Amino acid sequence: LDVHGSTPHEEKILVSVRLRPLNEREVSQNDVSDWECVNNTTIISKGHDRPMSPTTYSFDRVFGSDSSTRQVYEEGAKKVALSVVNGINASIFAYGQTSSGKTYTMSGVTEYTLSDIYDYITKHESREFVLKFAAMEIYNECVRDLLTSENTTLRLLDDPERGTVVEKLTEVTLRDWEHLRELLSACTAQRQTGETSLNEMSSRSHQILRLTVESSTRKYSTSHNSDILAATVNFVDLAGSERASQTMSANTRLKEGCHINRSLLTLGTVIRKLSKGRNVHVPYRDSKLTRILQNSLGGNARTAIICTLSPAHTHFEQSRNTLVFASCAK
Ligand code: ADP
Ligand code: MG
Repeated sequence: LDVHGSTPHEEKILVSVRLRPLNEREVSQNDVSDWECVNNTTIISKGHDRPMSPTTYSFDRVFGSDSSTRQVYEEGAKKVALSVVNGINASIFAYGQTSSGKTYTMSGVTEYTLSDIYDYITKHESREFVLKFAAMEIYNECVRDLLTSENTTLRLLDDPERGTVVEKLTEVTLRDWEHLRELLSACTAQRQTGETSLNEMSSRSHQILRLTVESSTRKYSTSHNSDILAATVNFVDLAGSERASQTMSANTRLKEGCHINRSLLTLGTVIRKLSKGRNVHVPYRDSKLTRILQNSLGGNARTAIICTLSPAHTHFEQSRNTLVFASCAK
């Protein structure tokens, strides 16, 4: 694992797109796929019933409907996520409309990453590792702990040394791999106990799973530099991207009960600014999500965004919006 020698090219945001297969309902309604992955970096719209010519979109990686989550992890997230063991903060995002496959993709990517981190740790016995896990959800700009059953809203505080911290957020020091698995299923359960249905809830909320990796040279090691490394990796399952559609008319929004999601909108702005490079003002402070993730987005940090797409013709406009977002993040 060599994540040290990062070239300027590698510092940009890693952007990939994953197309899910048509689901049973879509097939039964004779819906057809609007998109075709022509190679592993390019996707085109086939433009069914549309006079316009096909549009081509290119990204770091494009995963077709027959791709596996393992493949998405290996090529679209691994390098960024594992930089955490070398002291570099990382964020992995799933971005896309509701039902496009964000949770499906992100839960797999999270598992593969955590498993590789445990692998790495067992192979690097000269260092001593401490892993800490936390999980939270942002719903209507309120932050909630996913590791307790208390339904209180957590405040964000500005710490002069650590930056923005989530006050009273539970942080659990992991005993072993099994312990982590238990916590992961506990927060899935916690997320499902909201009053609204899971789909309604998850279309509006952002889930952040956060792993902090601290390591230092073991005392008995012959190495003299007792360096200490600490970094966090965040796995972010975002609210449905339809919540960021500025183009949607006020009327449609009212009808669909769809409110603009401030955190999602601000994240879009922050990502666009970061991809433009240095010397621009980045409005991290405009939303809870971007405040919490600030240290894992700019500066000493690496970012991967996996944009998930529904192939269905009925979702064409939202899919195109997602690709426009992804193009701006490159
Ligand atoms: P989202 O989190 O974006 O709302 P989900 O991850 O819940 O969407 O996916 C919606 C449905 O589609 C789920 O039933 C999920 O299992 C299925 N699904 C999503 N992506 C894929 C895929 N790549 N292959 C097979 N099934 C998928
Ligand atoms: Mg989801």
